[in-house]
Amino acid sequence: MAPPPERCPCCNHTAVPTVATSPLPGAWEYYVCQQCWYGFRSTESPQQTDPDQFPQEFPQEFPQEFRVSQDTLRT
Ligand SMILES: [Zn+2]
Repeated sequence: MAPPPERCPCCNHTAVPTVATSPLPGAWEYYVCQQCWYGFRSTESPQQTDPDQFPQEFPQEFPQEFRVSQDTLRT
């Protein structure tokens, strides 16, 4: 089983635990961010799983003040 991602693709939160696994062992894992509740499978594309490639305009209803900026993570 792969380790859960270090950051949420949507908001950069660091608590993104594995919450479900495939009935077929090893096929995929499902993660859910504990801050914004964005959920995704390990097999989805980088646009859905990589914080650096996630569309910044999505989700529009998610408040910007809860999104951790890349600058904050570098300090
Ligand atoms: Zn999140």
